[in-house]
Amino acid sequence: MKITENSVVSILYKLSNDAGTILDQSTEDNPLIYLHGQGNIVIGLENALTGKTIGDTLDITVTPDEGYGNREDYMVETVNRSMFEGLDEISIGKQFHAEGNTGPVVVTVTKIEGDEITIDGNHPLAGENLNFAIEVLAIREATEDELTHGHIHGPGCQH
Ligand code: ZN
Repeated sequence: MKITENSVVSILYKLSNDAGTILDQSTEDNPLIYLHGQGNIVIGLENALTGKTIGDTLDITVTPDEGYGNREDYMVETVNRSMFEGLDEISIGKQFHAEGNTGPVVVTVTKIEGDEITIDGNHPLAGENLNFAIEVLAIREATEDELTHGHIHGPGCQH
């Protein structure tokens, strides 16, 4: 069986940046399982996995264009502390959900100067090459429900 649109795919992956630092990885006990062809993983990785089969391994570099995008200056802005009224303590590195021009975004606090808070709406991995080492562990057909929802259903997921 090969990976095609609407396959449910389990993979082992290790993600590192160009400096060789491991940013994220899955394990045999807890593999990443996703619905192929629905944009649930970065497009560069999804494209590379199309047509692969169980046991295949691949090492690929996904550029920002096909990963988390390039860093955009316009997504960095400075706002007044009063914008955060009612929220927990503000500190550098803290992330908040905010309403952006194109829908909900996660913003990260990157600078605090008195009442001036700088927030960055870029993905933390924007502008980075994503180096993936992948092994395909399992492939199955998606169920009707999964296709309707656009994501996989697993143990404990009732919707
Ligand atoms: Zn669902």
